[in-house]
Amino acid sequence: MREPLSNPKNRVVTVIGAGPAGLTAGLYAARAGLAVTVLEKLTPGGQMNLTPEIENYPGAAGSAGWELAERMHAQAAAAGAVIRTAEVLGLNLGGARPVVRTAREEESCDALILAMGAAPRKLDIGGEAALTGRGVSYCAVCDGAFFKDKRAAVVGGGNTALEDALYLSGLCAEVTLIHRRDAFRGEAALVERVRQDPRIRLLLSAVPEEITGDTRVEGLRVREIKTGRIEELLLDAVFIAVGTEPQTALVRDWINLDPNGYVVAGEDTRTSHPAVFAAGDVRAKPLRQIATAVADGATAVSQITGE
Ligand code: NAP
Repeated sequence: MREPLSNPKNRVVTVIGAGPAGLTAGLYAARAGLAVTVLEKLTPGGQMNLTPEIENYPGAAGSAGWELAERMHAQAAAAGAVIRTAEVLGLNLGGARPVVRTAREEESCDALILAMGAAPRKLDIGGEAALTGRGVSYCAVCDGAFFKDKRAAVVGGGNTALEDALYLSGLCAEVTLIHRRDAFRGEAALVERVRQDPRIRLLLSAVPEEITGDTRVEGLRVREIKTGRIEELLLDAVFIAVGTEPQTALVRDWINLDPNGYVVAGEDTRTSHPAVFAAGDVRAKPLRQIATAVADGATAVSQITGE
């Protein structure tokens, strides 16, 4: 095992991303006496902000995702982490210390924790880009209320799609859940709730081909894989939940990524660069949950301090 950074106290740590991994890293680093800055380009909380209700993070059942995000943010800030809104535009990991460039400044640090998470994957079908924000959405909890009593489709078969369908079934007049296979990838408990929900229609073994509408979503053309039959759904909204892609464009020239673009780092969060650690969804790992993200954030700091 490699050694922790020498003289950890009062060393400068920069964290990129303020999701659960980054905020936990900020909390642990501040409590360890490190000078830690967490940089976030959007709202702190990351994908938690997209989650209608937290069901499987211990102690937080019944909270909205944004509520848990606010509590994590407040706790890290109270411990002394500096949490700033700033987009990281570039990195230089070629010198003795990692250098992080934002629009306003360029700063070096002793250790860099990558916690940029992942962003929604696109379907890459006709109409998707043009109608994004006009009925096409990647966040049911953010945009669902715009489609109260309207017709919505959710695309995907993972936990996000299942949760989105359940959330929208409480708001919309009708919800069609479209998945490319017969079996869902998401948790059995969520699948069961979706199957029991009379307001959710399942369209399985089906792939969306085109989102239609001039200035707003009017429909979705779907092809049933087994029969080749085309169905034209009349819709007001299409919520796309087909997984995420790692936000690793910044680091791909500097550290090892796996073939899917995730940062190669083990449970110790150490990357191929001795001063760079990877925490949360950005790391190549078998399970992407809030629970595993916060674990990574804490582990990264313990690797830096050697404690
Ligand atoms: P995910 O688990 O990767 O599922 C993505 C789904 O989209 C899969 O069903 C996949 O189909 C489908 N898909 C992918 N590309 C597609 C395409 N081009 N066209 C049509 N369908 C496509 O993604 P996720 O649901 O966003 O979840 C991401 C991670 O966060 C997971 O680890 C998940 O467990 C976690 N998460 C957990 C919770 C929770 O625990 N409550 C909530 C949300 C997210 P196939 O199944 O055929 O591959």
